[in-house]
Amino acid sequence: MSSEAPDPLQHIGAALFRPLGVDGVYARTALYEDLVERLTAFISRQRDRSAEILRFPPLMSREQLEKSGYLKSFPNLLGCVCALHGTEAEIRAAAERYEEGGDWTRALAPADLVLSPAACYPVYPLIAPRGAVPSAGLLFDVAADCFRREPSRSLDRLQSFRMREFVRIGPPEEILAFRQHWMERAQRLAAQLALPCRLDAASDPFFGRVGQVMAVSQLQQSLKFELLIPYYAGAKPTACMSFNYHRDQFGVIWGLKDEAGATAHTGCVAFGMDRLAIALFCVHGLEPARWPGSVRAALAL
Ligand code: AMP
Ligand code: ZN
Repeated sequence: MSSEAPDPLQHIGAALFRPLGVDGVYARTALYEDLVERLTAFISRQRDRSAEILRFPPLMSREQLEKSGYLKSFPNLLGCVCALHGTEAEIRAAAERYEEGGDWTRALAPADLVLSPAACYPVYPLIAPRGAVPSAGLLFDVAADCFRREPSRSLDRLQSFRMREFVRIGPPEEILAFRQHWMERAQRLAAQLALPCRLDAASDPFFGRVGQVMAVSQLQQSLKFELLIPYYAGAKPTACMSFNYHRDQFGVIWGLKDEAGATAHTGCVAFGMDRLAIALFCVHGLEPARWPGSVRAALAL
């Protein structure tokens, strides 16, 4: 959306967010945060008992993300942590440049950290040292505050947002069955929340011209689907969940194998917590007490 066009989300944004001086980075109000907590609990109630729960910080190892192939696909979206390194004198000199009206950031050097662009990247290297993947596979429930460098005035495109994922690691047929199960289940959950939705094949926003080829190939192989929710009548629907099959990409990179030595496949189901929360406010209004009974029951409102 161009910055001149009025954003239809703006009126609800005033009740849900407070500006922090940068587009796509907001403080969240109690009204909003209470709903995100209820939505989080609602998703936890859907979790399979066998899932191992892990909560990640908003940062991850730069080396691990590099090895995951992120720079080949989305270099434009990545945020890397930089810091002032060096002797006390060097760090002091850099900081003083700011006081003198100069550019202190020239002295920054990359640290061994990046801002996590999705919640599931740290899972694969974390389990790699555990040895063979059991024949029934593995299941994880993960979450992280994620960062993507895509500043926008539109409230459904944040730079800092929360992602919850169920991640499956195992034989290909298990991953496909898991994804199929969640594509159906997600539509039932959306119905429980009285959110209009549609499931569609999708591709990731791969960078540049080479990226366009990657996106076509991803579509042709049906590797990604999204749950799309229109925020208001006639709106272009917003992707609020995604259902991803990575094939053996992470299995090969991290050496994930079953007991017989076959490379494990992986897949994940991602819940865009902020997009789902905004969808609920857009569709049902700013007063949760007046939302439909079924929605209130599902969210224990
Ligand atoms: P993806 O890995 O791109 O499939 O992202 C998983 C989910 O995270 C998406 O379906 C969205 O709901 C959410 N998401 C992705 N990018 C953003 C963003 N810039 N702002 C808010 N939510 C996002
Ligand atoms: Zn994932």
